[in-house]
Amino acid sequence: MTPRGYGPGASFCPRCAAALPGPPPTACGDCGYQLFVNARPTAGLVLLDRDPERPSGVDDSGPRFLALRRAAEPMIGRWETPGGFCDGWEHPADAAVREAREELGVELTLGDCLGMFIGSYEFQDEVLPVLDVFFLATLDDQSIVLNPAEATESRWFPLFDPPPLAFATMDQAVRAAAHRVRR
Ligand SMILES: [Zn+2]
Repeated sequence: MTPRGYGPGASFCPRCAAALPGPPPTACGDCGYQLFVNARPTAGLVLLDRDPERPSGVDDSGPRFLALRRAAEPMIGRWETPGGFCDGWEHPADAAVREAREELGVELTLGDCLGMFIGSYEFQDEVLPVLDVFFLATLDDQSIVLNPAEATESRWFPLFDPPPLAFATMDQAVRAAAHRVRR
């Protein structure tokens, strides 16, 4: 059996290393340690090129949203919305602002929360559950400076005609944003 870490396939106790009686949620038969698997929180952004509340004049194609081309596995080379994992006790809204600073070099004021979506993320040979929390935001006049460790390219896509994104929860969040902007 392949040793597994802390995910749904965990087979050894993280405290005493004894074999677990079954997959989590379970308790170690040797030391009693209880092992649970929970979705890890992430923060994501549907970042628009203009305030959807503001009339756009002659342009009626709707707002565009920013996608980045992933520079690293998993899903390297695919388009994604900016974002990442929350640290420790960090609130997802704070993580979203921090990720915008790190990935795009911009300071954002967040708009509404678009929702929470359960997804899967492959990390260190485990498929882990994630809780993806998405926020709407608008990029004013700031120019983006990509972090080459995170993304190789950025592009604005029509919110009402998005390409398939790296993770299903991103597709869901973009649809939620389009629904909200149309209302
Ligand atoms: Zn144990």
